Amino acid sequence: MTATANTAGTPIISQLDIAPTIAHILGLTLPCSDGKPIGPVLAWGCKNVALIIIDSLGYDLFLWLLPALNNMNALCHDGLLIRARSVSNHTTPAIASILSGLLPEHHGIFDKAGAKESKIFSLPEVATSSGHSSAVIMEQNGADVYRGLVEMVHGISDKIPPQDFDREACRMTCKALKKQPRLLVSYFIGIDKSVHMGDGPAGIREAALIIDRSIGKIVRTADEDTLFIICGDHPIHAGPLRRREEPYCVAMIMARGMARRGPEGGSDGRPEK
Ligand SMILES: [Zn+2]
Repeated sequence: MTATANTAGTPIISQLDIAPTIAHILGLTLPCSDGKPIGPVLAWGCKNVALIIIDSLGYDLFLWLLPALNNMNALCHDGLLIRARSVSNHTTPAIASILSGLLPEHHGIFDKAGAKESKIFSLPEVATSSGHSSAVIMEQNGADVYRGLVEMVHGISDKIPPQDFDREACRMTCKALKKQPRLLVSYFIGIDKSVHMGDGPAGIREAALIIDRSIGKIVRTADEDTLFIICGDHPIHAGPLRRREEPYCVAMIMARGMARRGPEGGSDGRPEK
């Protein structure tokens, strides 16, 4: 596994660096940003970006789950696993930070109503206004913010069982990727719902396995021109596994699409590890 060396203390890379990284790859100019591009991935030569946000995927939780997650394990081996600084312990401001590169006190989006009213430009809007095809797949309220602003928008009701939500997110993400958008944003909910329903470790692991299988299908739908950024919005923020002290960190995986790879891997000339 290629991981950032700092496994203790405050991490160097933050969720705020995601938006500037994506902007750099797509050739976009963000109005302003509190982060900076993540250098190593810029050299991979990707043209498109698929950002997959996994609710409550804290870094410690991810390390605990990782031995069971075959697909995400493969992505970590192939790319980078980063312990990234989390900027908010709540979903809506955290996702707004991921999509804008701004600290919560700078984007001012703290709830769903604020997201609808905000004048802050987030990545899917900036990409679309620059003529790039974009896709947003998330829960209904979040998706509604982008309706009419972004080419492909698919909202999923969060009233349906979480496993059905995540399977639908997988299906719609694969469908959208086949149209080769320059930017795709997609969102998985199962781990967070398990935490809030008090399912305990077994339930959380089951939810994570559904997401891992979805990630496997998704990364095999896009080729190496697509950079995948898979990240948590915040560490676990409820129940007995709740993260209670600094540093608050999420898992961030950066890897390229695997659609062109042969069954043995390494067919694209990249050195095998
Ligand atoms: Zn969340």
